Amino acid sequence: MTFDASHTPAVDDAVFRMPKIDLHRHLEGSLRLDTLLAIAMEHDITLPALSIEGLRPHVQLTKDEPRTMTQFLSKFAVLRQFYRSEKIIRRVAAEVVADAAADNVRYMELRFTPKALNNIVNTDYRHVVTWVCEAANESARQHNMDVRLIVSVNRHESIEIAMLAYEAAIACRDMGIVAIDLAGAEANYPPELFRPLFDRARADRLNITIHAGEWAGADSVRSAVELGARRIGHGIRSIEDASVVDLLKERGIVLEVCPTSNVDSGSVESMAAHPLGRLHAAGVKTTINTDDPLISGITLSDELRRAMASFGFSTPDIRRQTLTAAESAFLPETERILLVNKFRNWLFPPGTRPLSAIVPPPALP
Ligand SMILES: [Zn+2]
Repeated sequence: MTFDASHTPAVDDAVFRMPKIDLHRHLEGSLRLDTLLAIAMEHDITLPALSIEGLRPHVQLTKDEPRTMTQFLSKFAVLRQFYRSEKIIRRVAAEVVADAAADNVRYMELRFTPKALNNIVNTDYRHVVTWVCEAANESARQHNMDVRLIVSVNRHESIEIAMLAYEAAIACRDMGIVAIDLAGAEANYPPELFRPLFDRARADRLNITIHAGEWAGADSVRSAVELGARRIGHGIRSIEDASVVDLLKERGIVLEVCPTSNVDSGSVESMAAHPLGRLHAAGVKTTINTDDPLISGITLSDELRRAMASFGFSTPDIRRQTLTAAESAFLPETERILLVNKFRNWLFPPGTRPLSAIVPPPALP
């Protein structure tokens, strides 16, 4: 990665040491290459090459590869063959949390797709959800960080599968499940197809986040907001419609932006063309996240540094967006206020603190 001249090693180190929040990270896109290799050897999974460098191009975008939705999603299809047992699912969940902690992520909402993890083990979704929650929670405790879980469903899979995953999420709610998410091939599967899922979530007062405005336009973001999403995964194409930008601002909807992923998935042509800087300047609440550290070959620190280099964000801009992430955490009110205060003290110690009130998110519809 190349940064402009204003990015000194001291700035890079400060970003690394800064306590961070990731609101948008997929378990299935965050695995370790050496773990994948170990699983392949233990379970006799046929790979094109039995080495990390041989495996890499099959699960991570390489420099010269085309940046398209199809290419991006193809990596997840390869990864699905690795979820062979409870032991593996618990291991990868624990490692993803440990890796975030090693990058000084202090609060993370980790999302995972029960259908993907259950493809081979083929058990009750509740078992899979329990394994992920238990392993992530134990790893968070060991690494002194806070983790919550989001159950994700793919729009290119059926509503029946989505409802099964949802029931498992509700059954495991006391293990840290805080929201439901809709992901996958956005262009051909508008969020309205999953209206029954979101009706249930609103009735159960489970938070909703929806991937929108990534591979489809601003109308997709509007639909997601109308279905009850309080945060939007990406939402970057909101910039195409001023009325959608206004809607986000009026309702205090937060965008979970993942800049490198947006380039890698073909949603935007380049970092220079990425609208994060413009959305932030327009007053939309934005946060910076990773999406899929393995597939994009990044950490959250990389993303923050890249955002500073690409969008001219200052260190306070980055800290302010981290505070926005704390303010929009899917936590009960008292826990959210504690998180906000903790991060405000870390990011803006007395004397440097900007005037910033705790802004409650919109009430659940
Ligand atoms: Zn995502």
